[in-house]
Amino acid sequence: MERSLEILRAAAKTGRQVSFKPLLDQVEVFQDWLEKPETWDRQDGSRTRRELLARYLLVNVILDQGPDSKGVGLLLAQVTNALYRREVRFLHQPEEFFQELGIAIDHIDSVHTAIKQLRAEKWAQDNQSRASRYNLFMDNARQTLSYAVFRWGVPLALPLVLDRNLAEEEQRPSVLLNYLRSYPSAEVMSWRLKDHHQYGLGKAIGDKAAHLYAKWLIHTFPILLDPQTPAWGPFGFEVPFDSNAGRVLWRTGFFLEWATLQEYIEWKVVQPEEGKGGTDYIRVTNIRKRKSERAREIPDLWQAYCNLVLDHLCAGRRPRKVEIQRIPLALLLLDGSGTPGELDDGLMYIGTHFCFNRAEPLCAECPIHHLCRGYQEDRSLITNYRT
Ligand code: SF4
Repeated sequence: MERSLEILRAAAKTGRQVSFKPLLDQVEVFQDWLEKPETWDRQDGSRTRRELLARYLLVNVILDQGPDSKGVGLLLAQVTNALYRREVRFLHQPEEFFQELGIAIDHIDSVHTAIKQLRAEKWAQDNQSRASRYNLFMDNARQTLSYAVFRWGVPLALPLVLDRNLAEEEQRPSVLLNYLRSYPSAEVMSWRLKDHHQYGLGKAIGDKAAHLYAKWLIHTFPILLDPQTPAWGPFGFEVPFDSNAGRVLWRTGFFLEWATLQEYIEWKVVQPEEGKGGTDYIRVTNIRKRKSERAREIPDLWQAYCNLVLDHLCAGRRPRKVEIQRIPLALLLLDGSGTPGELDDGLMYIGTHFCFNRAEPLCAECPIHHLCRGYQEDRSLITNYRT
């Protein structure tokens, strides 16, 4: 356990020194008040500033599933600016996006082309691909209409429908936020955002993106943060492990401290010879809900885990087993050395700046190399796996 804790402490410390933020500072409509959270409850037209940020981030998190996060951020910011300049105020009044769909599609197309010209060559070099394959529309889809209606339209439809169905007049300025806050915790909010029978976004949002949204609203921007209420505090949501974070946790030996290689193979977290060049492929998302017998046998960790599940995540009845994806949170809660948001920022930073998805990452420069089992003891953890 001590070794795992040291890895988490070091990654969280790294996370406190870096910043992974959506590009809100490039959105003209936010510029006068973005850096003044104390003013976010004031209204900007018909909505509170806090509500407008939450709406924008919901669209952002759904678009942010393509190959180039920064490119996605630029696309959203520039299209938003262009639409607002034409008086299509789609964050304030989402119906305007649908009424002016033709204008929206034109801007999405032209901005996408400009961003591709700027970023595709570099992206192709970094990813050993061809510039012509650069496409922010995801799923290899290149049809702007379906992209606009599905990826932009679904998250904009949520506040639109809530506005029509739920809101008392005085609730309208923050109708999305009131809906999100109606859940017992940020974690439960992230589940229902996807699967609520009436308002769920379904296939438009994955588990990882729903958790990233919770992280943005609690950790990255204090939009829903309530430090006095554990369920809406820094431990109120699970870390949205992506492949970069998962790769770091695998190579450092963190995951192998909590289950065996054989178990990871059975769960299809490790898929032998399915990776690039015949390496073993690691599918981090398959770790969700998998249990660690080892963790259950450590009394302090078990106590922290129960506390996490019952008081912070509000994720149901008293647990009987320890889910592996929650172990980092329980360890940090026990240790008090960092928060899940800091940890995720640190893992993302290490994964995207040093721990590249190839056989020769930049280990010598990596801030946690002194703790990394792949670097210090067993190079096969680096060379034999890809995410
Ligand atoms: S030391 Fe190397 S393998 Fe280990 S986390 Fe850092 S970059 Fe990755």
